[in-house]
Amino acid sequence: MLRIAMLAVHSSPLAAIGSREAGGMNVYVRELARELGRRGIAVDIFTRSQRRGEPTVVSIGSHARVITLRTGPAAPYNKNWVLDYLPEFVSRIRCFADGQDLNYDLIHSHYWLSGVAALELRTMWRVPVVHMFHTLGVLKNRVAPAPIWGETDQRVQIETRLMQTVDAVVAATPIDRAQMVLHYNADPERIVVIPGGVDTRVFRPRDRAEARRRLGLPPHPTRLALFVGRIEPLKGLDTLITAMTHLRDLDLRLLVVGGDAHAREDQWSAEERRLRGLARDLNLDGRVLFIGSRPQAQLPLLYSAADVVAVPSLYESFGLVALEAQACGTPVVASRVGGLRCTVRDGVSGFLVPPADPDALAGRIRHLVEHEGLREEMGAHAIENAQAYDWSVIAGRMQSLYNALLRRQAPAPAYDQRGTLPCSM
Ligand code: UDP
Repeated sequence: MLRIAMLAVHSSPLAAIGSREAGGMNVYVRELARELGRRGIAVDIFTRSQRRGEPTVVSIGSHARVITLRTGPAAPYNKNWVLDYLPEFVSRIRCFADGQDLNYDLIHSHYWLSGVAALELRTMWRVPVVHMFHTLGVLKNRVAPAPIWGETDQRVQIETRLMQTVDAVVAATPIDRAQMVLHYNADPERIVVIPGGVDTRVFRPRDRAEARRRLGLPPHPTRLALFVGRIEPLKGLDTLITAMTHLRDLDLRLLVVGGDAHAREDQWSAEERRLRGLARDLNLDGRVLFIGSRPQAQLPLLYSAADVVAVPSLYESFGLVALEAQACGTPVVASRVGGLRCTVRDGVSGFLVPPADPDALAGRIRHLVEHEGLREEMGAHAIENAQAYDWSVIAGRMQSLYNALLRRQAPAPAYDQRGTLPCSM
């Protein structure tokens, strides 16, 4: 049986999703591992312990496990400090593997921090390393609203080194790959495009009226726009809140899913406080509702209950939320950035708008809310569009990449073109 060591040092697939640090990458790693497991590949995901007393080994599906190892303090800490503790992480992975007589055939690392650990392990295990960045420091810095949200030079240097040294880099879209070539001078031959996925058995359409009833949300004719995601500046939620001021004449609510609504006010993050303040200052109380993060199992109902899902990000390397919403038959209005340019088919399964443009965002939301027929039509196309990204398809492409590397073949450039996924590039 093929055995993969998957590294996700700074964020565990077992973490509660939707808070500041845990989001798409956690979901990606969990779902990919589960799907590979279903295909008969053994996957161990190694991550660092964030609280005392966490069990070391947790099964998350057939042949898929999360291995939580002590790496520095067993507490949340600044992700940049993880670098200092990587030697401990690497040696604990080695001890775990040796103690269980496990030999891994390949390492698949996620995010720049895990990439460093992967290179260390490669020198000992002599197996190929597949790496996925998820986000890129240079691109985050270009849109960071303030230096405090910026990424370190050290991160960019490490990303550059990883692009030159790992056996294959997985880019989520052709745009992602082009950005690595442009900004990091990466070798395009080493980069394989495999998008993120969605579980279409979980994310499938539900009856809208019934979904609202079950969630205690107002029935039609009240319209619902939905935002789902971590509450952080790059998500562009301020643009969406501002857009709501142009839509006061409609019976429309905006539901914001993500963040800390259940915690006390003094525990909210600075960004959540800022955004709630913005909604209050713009007299949107009662129209913009922060309902906190929700377990993923509840999201299909929420997506189905909404008339439109908005993804107003300033930067998005892929954007799972846009895919999940479409899989539930809800059109998406998204910023024309990064992966959203590929996953949302403009004018077909939703609309793309310029980032940070409340007028344009409001215009498209209004159009969908006022044209029920178009909404239905786009919803049907959205479901069809999302099918192409089902995890079974995506994991199959990942497995082909693993096999190609294990046969010691460089990933052939033709591989990139094999998929039929639509993209504007
Ligand atoms: N999510 C969740 N509960 C929440 C908010 C978000 O389960 O309250 C999940 C959502 O379903 C999606 C992920 O978090 O799978 C966010 O991924 P995306 O790629 O859209 O954004 P990222 O976090 O990577 O920036």
